[in-house]
Amino acid sequence: NREIHLASRPQGWPTADNFRLVETEVPTPGPGQIVVRNQFMSVDPYMRGRMNDVKSYVPPFALDAPLDGGAIGEVVAGEADGIAVGDTVLHGLGWREYALVDAKAARKVDPSLAPVSAYLSVLGMTGLTAYAGLLDVAAMKPGETVFVSGAAGAVGSMVGQIAKLKGAGRVVGSAGSKAKVERLEALGFDAAFDYHDGPVKDALKAAAPDGVDVYFDNVGGEHLEAAIGAMNVHGRAAICGMIAQYNSTEPPAAPRNLALVIGKRLTLRGFLVGDHGNLRDQFVADMAGWLRDGKLSYDETVIDGIENAPEAFLGLMRGENLGKMLVRV
Ligand code: NDP
Repeated sequence: NREIHLASRPQGWPTADNFRLVETEVPTPGPGQIVVRNQFMSVDPYMRGRMNDVKSYVPPFALDAPLDGGAIGEVVAGEADGIAVGDTVLHGLGWREYALVDAKAARKVDPSLAPVSAYLSVLGMTGLTAYAGLLDVAAMKPGETVFVSGAAGAVGSMVGQIAKLKGAGRVVGSAGSKAKVERLEALGFDAAFDYHDGPVKDALKAAAPDGVDVYFDNVGGEHLEAAIGAMNVHGRAAICGMIAQYNSTEPPAAPRNLALVIGKRLTLRGFLVGDHGNLRDQFVADMAGWLRDGKLSYDETVIDGIENAPEAFLGLMRGENLGKMLVRV
């Protein structure tokens, strides 16, 4: 069994040296436990925060211990809580080939309904984040103009498509390359721009000349400032993530125009997907229906091998992924 440990805490941008590949025994299950041979694991931006030794909504990763996070695999030993050998389960112990999982913390899924990787992407946590953030937190209404940053990523690409499917009037996305912008146009975004091409403020004004009603923020910083500037009266922003600052060592300079929230009566609302589990059934029904009808596309960038999981994580932070970044274990 090979697993990835946190060898040291990154200062600023993480590097390969912050991680260590460690060989251990394949675990044996005790009462109430199962052993899962992981097939796919997720790398996610929030993991960067857990590499710092600070108090947050999830505890920090421990040094010299395996990292963890969303994973899916097949049960190879143990039996408990209605889960048996051969079942496919979702659980929280990624970053390793074999996981010793408390059966209560695993959720059985049907591998015949969708490719198993989809339970970590379109049908998983990032899909639900998009769905809940757009429809519940920002309460998007038909006809509205939606702007989403990080639009070619796992969450962002779902936000834009769900917005269109739920009747948004105009959907605008920003992303980090020409190829990503082209992909957004193919996914049905009405306009998209590469934020490297000039000030976000100018690109957004050109892409959404009548202003923005809903902003889905994955990036923070200059993007958030531009969105506040472009938002219409009574606009709502779902504050999902601020990846532009996850590796900074200094506090961000933007947004400098926060006072606009007063006159425009804006709502800026942070949220965590974990609080929106009540939407899961509706989310799965909607997403599965759209997938079946060919109305929703999803991209996955798959890196092979547990030994390459740190590189997959670093690639995610650098924007090397289209859609969900996954490791095939
Ligand atoms: P993505 O698939 O979007 O991958 C991260 C992307 O961020 C990269 O592909 C890169 O794309 C972009 N990026 C990196 N650095 C910058 C930068 N400086 N400025 C602008 N874009 C940058 O990841 P996820 O879909 O998993 O997550 C998206 C956001 O949602 C993150 O902020 C994450 O923390 C947040 N999140 C929040 C949750 C919640 O419950 N609140 C749950 C899940 C995710 P590019 O090439 O376009 O730069």
